[in-house]
Amino acid sequence: MKEHKTEVLVVGAGPVGLLTAILLADAGIQVEVIDREECTAARSYACALHPKTLKLLARLGLAPALLKRGLRIPTIAFYDSSKRRAEIKLSELGGEFPFILTLPQSDLEEILEERLRQRSGLEVKWNYRCSGFESDDKGVTASVEKLGGTGTGYIVPHWETVVLKRFPFQAQFIIGADGHNSLVRRCLGIEYESMAKPESFAAIEFESDLEPMDELRIVLDDATTNVLWPLPGNRLRWTFQLLPCNELDEFPQKARSAIRVGGANVDEDLRRWTQEVSRERAPWFCRSIKDIAWCTQVTFERRLAKQFGRGRCWLVGDAAHQTSPAAAQSLNVGLLEADSLATSLRLILREGAKIDLLTAYDRECRRRWHQLLGLDGGLSSCYDTDAWVRSRIARILPAVPALDGDLSNLVSQLGLNLA
Ligand SMILES: Cc1cc2nc3c(=O)[nH]c(=O)nc-3n(C[C@H](O)[C@H](O)[C@H](O)COP(=O)(O)OP(=O)(O)OC[C@H]3O[C@@H](n4cnc5c(N)ncnc54)[C@H](O)[C@@H]3O)c2cc1C
Repeated sequence: MKEHKTEVLVVGAGPVGLLTAILLADAGIQVEVIDREECTAARSYACALHPKTLKLLARLGLAPALLKRGLRIPTIAFYDSSKRRAEIKLSELGGEFPFILTLPQSDLEEILEERLRQRSGLEVKWNYRCSGFESDDKGVTASVEKLGGTGTGYIVPHWETVVLKRFPFQAQFIIGADGHNSLVRRCLGIEYESMAKPESFAAIEFESDLEPMDELRIVLDDATTNVLWPLPGNRLRWTFQLLPCNELDEFPQKARSAIRVGGANVDEDLRRWTQEVSRERAPWFCRSIKDIAWCTQVTFERRLAKQFGRGRCWLVGDAAHQTSPAAAQSLNVGLLEADSLATSLRLILREGAKIDLLTAYDRECRRRWHQLLGLDGGLSSCYDTDAWVRSRIARILPAVPALDGDLSNLVSQLGLNLA
């Protein structure tokens, strides 16, 4: 950071920012990645990698590390509150990764940061925050703050973040990989289009008994979408949709410490609540709920940035979109966006392509999201589609963990066509 100058400045070291930085560095482009927090996330959040994402990460030599830490899930089963209704076999996809891999997001971030450090020789600049930027047709000048902490308070001491230093940072391009409340997006004045009413979910992750499950179970009862995720290490996660939800609550920050505050009584209440809800929505669920490792409540909105950027300032990942958490689509699409944005930047910075190439990035990203959000017509049924599947059709699209051609292939097993 001595010169405060680089070719590409990536704001945000979540999974999407880390992958963008890796791909740019691999292409021989000078890159810096800054994050206002002090380290990677500590929780599992978006905990599934789709086959197409695995293929991309394998290209970077990451398959052995991911497969070692993750759990392969070859089947997706659909239930309602009484019984199993349909299933999808990922083996139909063929190829090297005919499964989804469940893996805590914290592990993915750790693996990506390690790859950036080891192979690209690049350290994330933690505790650096972007507070704004200006751009013209030659480049970008970002205002970057170095953050530190200070203890305040006498009777009740607490830790406060302070700005130690503020300086300009010059780059040819700035990439906003800065998550759901993206400062880069706001500085560009790009608004979100909201596609549906907000939906609230509770996630409870716990140790369980019996053998690890090898299928993802999606429970679509009359009103709610619920997902039972098998995770590595004999853990399970229930994601329950909560009703009613009319308000868009503030989206929480990712936690950076794995320590969970909560006593035995809190855990007992949570265990009882989880058992009650699963009895009601999934009476077939008969596993014990041992130690509760993590829980959260989050409201998600299906929304899309009106543009993925302009000129020398571009968005990638959650900075540009959000959707239901049922299939980890936002993370997986974000990682593919990182790949196409890095490819466009390489062509512009190293091979003399025109900057207008980036409008194709915008077009392609929005096309994919229009399909995933069902704006192009979503899923349609055929004359012999099962009546239960037909009755849940609008809720199936955001729940299938796949993209593009893989998504068409998998929904066709349910007798559905993707527009
Ligand atoms: C509590 C919670 C539960 C979730 N549950 C699920 C789930 O069940 N399923 C699912 O699919 N998804 C879930 N998600 C969402 C999932 O985590 C995101 O889709 C994923 O993290 C997106 O990755 P990203 O790299 O685009 O953005 P992020 O991971 O959000 O990374 C953005 C980074 O930018 C940094 N940053 C922000 N502003 C600045 C700035 N001004 N300067 C410097 N750095 C900045 C942040 O510190 C952060 O590290 C959950 C998220 C949370 C918080």
